[in-house]
Amino acid sequence: MRKNIQAIRGMNDFLSEDAITFQQVEKAVENVLIRYGYNEIRLPIIEQTKLFQRAIGTTTDTVGKEMYTFIDRSGKNVALRPEGTAGCIRAGIEHGFLHNQEQRLWYMGPMFRYERPQKGRYRQFYQTGVEIFGHCGPDVDAELILLTARCWRDLGICEHMKLELNSIGSLSTRERYSEALKEFLRQYENQLDDDSRRHMYVNPIRILDTKNPNTQNFLKKAPILTDYLDNDSKVHFSELCKLLELVNVPYTINHRLARGLDYYNRTIFEWTSPRLTGSQNTICGGGRYDNLIEHLGGCNPTPAIGFAIGMERLVFLTKKVNPKFFVKNYIDVYLIVDGGNLQQCVALQLAEKLRDTLPLLRLMINHGGGNIKKQFRRANKYGARLVLLLREEEMNFGKIIIKDLSTSTQEILEQKFVAARLQEILNKKEKYIENI
Ligand code: ATP
Ligand code: MG
Repeated sequence: MRKNIQAIRGMNDFLSEDAITFQQVEKAVENVLIRYGYNEIRLPIIEQTKLFQRAIGTTTDTVGKEMYTFIDRSGKNVALRPEGTAGCIRAGIEHGFLHNQEQRLWYMGPMFRYERPQKGRYRQFYQTGVEIFGHCGPDVDAELILLTARCWRDLGICEHMKLELNSIGSLSTRERYSEALKEFLRQYENQLDDDSRRHMYVNPIRILDTKNPNTQNFLKKAPILTDYLDNDSKVHFSELCKLLELVNVPYTINHRLARGLDYYNRTIFEWTSPRLTGSQNTICGGGRYDNLIEHLGGCNPTPAIGFAIGMERLVFLTKKVNPKFFVKNYIDVYLIVDGGNLQQCVALQLAEKLRDTLPLLRLMINHGGGNIKKQFRRANKYGARLVLLLREEEMNFGKIIIKDLSTSTQEILEQKFVAARLQEILNKKEKYIENI
């Protein structure tokens, strides 16, 4: 027997109900971004492989081990994007929107990493990302953090979120620190796992981001990067901390915070949640990358900062700690048609008229016939508040029945008054307003 074809491991289907919950979280985040004056940008999912190699670094897990790459039909080496920053800068340089300009941009969409699938870690996952170009001050760092904090507030999850901050300084800071860290790690070399041993000589700072508990344990004794910070980075960081105190955003400084991608400098931050388990507890990560644009071929140095939110983890956490945030996608009216072709035509016309007059109305028309009882069952299945029942008896006099399913009361009225009556009834219902 032939086996049915299944989805690829780590790539999820979002069935209706999941898609609706996802959409509501996306909308909440999008609303915040719009309120801060940020603009959406939509970028390709596939880019040239070398873009990510150059931007993220070949020694990172993301590029070194997790990237989906293939040779396309013209022989080009291309990759499914593992993150959005590189593509955004590529577009900025290509279209000249970075040069001497400020940009506040956001995007939402799928990213791809060949990781071991587990709860909160998938091979196709969704990120909302923000990138700000052209500003070097700590006020911008603070705004990004404030913006994310507002998302958590709007989702009703802020008391379950924890902000960790660090500064990783300039390139020379990291070079000096790398040497000290390498020196320290030598005594533990035989205890390092393969990954960390590989990083030790090429990019030891990456080891700080390890998920290996044994390594995490002896790293507690390692020298800290903060002691190697250059003066400008120190000032930048202390100003950011002051600003956050001023606007009442609690934070913890985590000297060992390091991010998985190579391009960061100065401020880096992560929002984690103690309500999520294991190494899948980071919901949002970001930081400055003031040198990346030049590194990717932009002609002038352009300061930049960004973050990305893992949307699956955010949806999961919101469902867990604030399920009340989600509104069921009920419809307002189910239109039941009792009769043949003529009734179907009248129903279709009436439904269109109602949609013209009441743009927020959620109206579903019965398809595929069925007796009235069956049609009422469908109305209940879709959670309809009201039923419009079109029968020959009333239709011949230009009338129709409205039935309120929550009170089981019904009335007969002229079709031309239906829109006004629906509005009257539904406006009284909290749910109708909430749903809008
Ligand atoms: P992690 O440490 O969890 O692997 P990361 O540092 O690799 O995350 P980033 O590249 O900073 O992640 O991406 C930002 C966010 O995207 C993460 O904080 C997380 O919420 C989400 N994310 C990253 N990888 C995955 C994945 N494979 N599946 C689901 N979400 C992910
Ligand atoms: Mg990762």
